[in-house]
Amino acid sequence: MSALPSHARVVIIGGGAVGASALYHLAKAGWTDCVLLEKNELTAGSTWHAAGNVPTFSSSWSIMNMQRYSASLYRELGALVDYPMNYHVTGSIRLGHSKERLQEFKRVVGMGRYQGMDLDILSPDEMRGKYPFLETHDLTGALYDPYDGDIDPAQLTQALAKGARDMGAKIFRFCPATGARREGEEWVISTPEGEIRCEKVVNAAGYYAREVGKWFGREVPMMVMSHQYILFEEIPELAAWSKEAGHKLPLLRDVDSSYYLRQEKTGMNLGPYERNCKAHWVTPDDPMPDDFSFQLFPDDLDRLEWYLNDAVERVPILGTAGLSRMINGPIPYAPDGNPLIGPMPGVPNAFEACVFTFGICQAGGAGKVLAEWVTEGETEWDMWSCDPRRYTRFAADKDYCIAKGMEIYGHEYAMHFPKHAWPAGRDRKLSPIHDRIKALGGQFKPYNGWERAMWYAEPGDDLSEEATQTWNREGPWRPRIEEECRAVTEAAGILDLPGFSRFRVKGEGATAWLSSLITGKVPKPGRIGLAYFADDKGRIVTEMSVMMLDEDFFFLITAATAQWHDFEWLAKHRPKDAAFTIDDVTDNFSCQILSGPNSRAILAEVSDADLSKGWLTHQPAQIAGRWCQLVRVSFAGELGWEIHTKIEDTAAIFDALWAAGQKHGLKPFGMEALDSLRIEKGYRAWKGDLSTDYTVLQGGLDRFVDWTKPDFKGKAALEREKQQGVTKRFVLLTVEAGECDAPYMSTLWHGGKVVGETTSGNWGYRVGKSIALGMLRTDLAVPGTEIEVEIYGDRFKATVQPDGPLFDPNNERLRA
Ligand SMILES: Cc1cc2nc3c(=O)[nH]c(=O)nc-3n(C[C@H](O)[C@H](O)[C@H](O)COP(=O)(O)OP(=O)(O)OC[C@H]3O[C@@H](n4cnc5c(N)ncnc54)[C@H](O)[C@@H]3O)c2cc1C
Repeated sequence: MSALPSHARVVIIGGGAVGASALYHLAKAGWTDCVLLEKNELTAGSTWHAAGNVPTFSSSWSIMNMQRYSASLYRELGALVDYPMNYHVTGSIRLGHSKERLQEFKRVVGMGRYQGMDLDILSPDEMRGKYPFLETHDLTGALYDPYDGDIDPAQLTQALAKGARDMGAKIFRFCPATGARREGEEWVISTPEGEIRCEKVVNAAGYYAREVGKWFGREVPMMVMSHQYILFEEIPELAAWSKEAGHKLPLLRDVDSSYYLRQEKTGMNLGPYERNCKAHWVTPDDPMPDDFSFQLFPDDLDRLEWYLNDAVERVPILGTAGLSRMINGPIPYAPDGNPLIGPMPGVPNAFEACVFTFGICQAGGAGKVLAEWVTEGETEWDMWSCDPRRYTRFAADKDYCIAKGMEIYGHEYAMHFPKHAWPAGRDRKLSPIHDRIKALGGQFKPYNGWERAMWYAEPGDDLSEEATQTWNREGPWRPRIEEECRAVTEAAGILDLPGFSRFRVKGEGATAWLSSLITGKVPKPGRIGLAYFADDKGRIVTEMSVMMLDEDFFFLITAATAQWHDFEWLAKHRPKDAAFTIDDVTDNFSCQILSGPNSRAILAEVSDADLSKGWLTHQPAQIAGRWCQLVRVSFAGELGWEIHTKIEDTAAIFDALWAAGQKHGLKPFGMEALDSLRIEKGYRAWKGDLSTDYTVLQGGLDRFVDWTKPDFKGKAALEREKQQGVTKRFVLLTVEAGECDAPYMSTLWHGGKVVGETTSGNWGYRVGKSIALGMLRTDLAVPGTEIEVEIYGDRFKATVQPDGPLFDPNNERLRA
């Protein structure tokens, strides 16, 4: 082995499938001066014992993108790098036991089709045609994925490593990184072979990522589960069938029973995600060893018994097979089960590509995404679902990670219904009036750890988890959401909104700097406005409200979940010698929304404010003797104010408003009602309607672009796009929907072709219609055009609406 160089452009810590893919993709991007450090042999972590399944299925658009990319890379990788490997594309059958499961499959078929993949729904007869050993009497249908298959994880890693080496990148095996420190603009990584300096560093240490993260002052939100599969000996019927057919059986996933079953040579491989699962290295009597390379946990057959019995009933030939081997290895989990790929929060020039639960099927795509983050600072696809900054400090708490990891693992194949709230790891951050909201019937979900009421139940409402197991609009929540919307429209509603992210920017030059970053005008002191931040390609990075207090002094307010993401965007673009400061003051403040025609009368009773001040103004005021900033805006689209307060004054202010509001018909309303109200106004939501998948012009945000400014970030790209013509446009659609409103990424159809996609959908109670926001081919984005929306497999007529709100198009109620 050659000597460790003293310098490299990038150092990757960890040589599993993901680290190797990151190195390969960096080299492919021309960054060949990169070094990978592996403490043992390549694949020594989770990779060596992985089953190697390579599905493309995901109900997440970005993860499907990543997996689709992996599968297509793996098809050609052997030839590309001259390293033949075992990759079998067998197809897979995902069994559906319920109507809801089939709806999920149909949605994924639609998404897959949009990504160029020909997924299909199978009837029980068709399943048996592809899988003759299958019991189908209790099944409603199945999803067939012809691209699914399995790969040898070690060969995959070696192939990626060879490809990277051939391009000039270097790999040092048996060379652990032992620490990291920052010196000037460089990272210095220590190893027993000496130190190596680099511009950028990547934590790809798999289930050791938390340990590696600590050197950077970063607590990686993760935990480790034990994951098993059983290998069976030859099954004569299977061997005979396979010989005659000339191929293997498709991989079977019984997702409702929670396992996969794969043909392995002439035997089988059964891998469950047990509900009675087990975490490892989470208690003092089970410490994580310094080195677990190429080791396994002891077999735990008891945990698998239920799954074995279930699989034998499903595929009876399995009952005759002898057990040949068990594998029980460590698999890392982040609290939502998605990996961490992207900038390491708060740490300059450091990145994460770790905590993969499906790191074999995702390695290819993850390497591409990671390399884009490192070389370009941005990614082709919006990758928020895997962005490490989606978690903030609260999520590093070990108990939280364990509770969520266990929950996700035990429900790895679960459907994620829109009205369901996963119960583990809750109540991390509570509003000072949480108990009052709860007593009023609040049904909560967390936003960046903050519990917010989604809707308010009445006594007798069905609050069981079972009631939420539906994609339908209808449910116990529906009459309540409708009542809440009516209260906001006819009287007044109050919504406690803790955790709004808030940054204070103050000091000379702050206004000019902000102007250079946002596409539009900076509001004048005393006013508030929406601001859009674009990247150099003109794509939507984020949206924030700018509350201008004074020249060079303002608050930027943004989504709860955007806290770290948006703060980093600002910090990254702040000139080093700037005279102004940016502080994250999220935890000091809170917000309550008071909205509806009676909100002025309510405020008049409790505050000294000038309530004649118009829309988009703000003013300091007193309520119940406490300071607040009254902001005349309403995401609900009614007369209303956001009442920003010190967090400790939340209760006093709520109590005063609540008492005064009773005779004015004040009701509490939740996030569900707010979402319905905002969609009628065509207001966009972050990371659904607003993402880096779209440019500011595609997003229909032209009125927030000030072309007269000499320059702003993204201007050149947006000017080019304007000249060339925008290919797709944001539209508001009314949909003649059935029982379900359009979920994110439902495809739009016209003339038998897919012509766009939805970015969000909901029922509008004020207009009595199903509404979808989406992106449509520009030539069709004309009011009155009739198209179709595919919702869970069925197509429904939809009509493009005029550009502007569907409800109160002239904003008269807002300005009242
Ligand atoms: C039983 C089982 C079956 C699985 N089956 C599948 C499957 O079918 N499909 C699928 O997609 N996924 C599967 N997985 C998950 C998959 O194994 C992982 O997601 C994947 O291997 C993660 O790859 P990685 O490169 O991120 O991490 P790892 O493979 O764990 O690699 C991390 C590497 O970092 C090295 N390292 C750690 N610390 C240091 C240090 N300080 N210095 C240098 N090197 C360091 C380690 O030695 C290790 O080699 C399975 C997992 C298990 C346990």
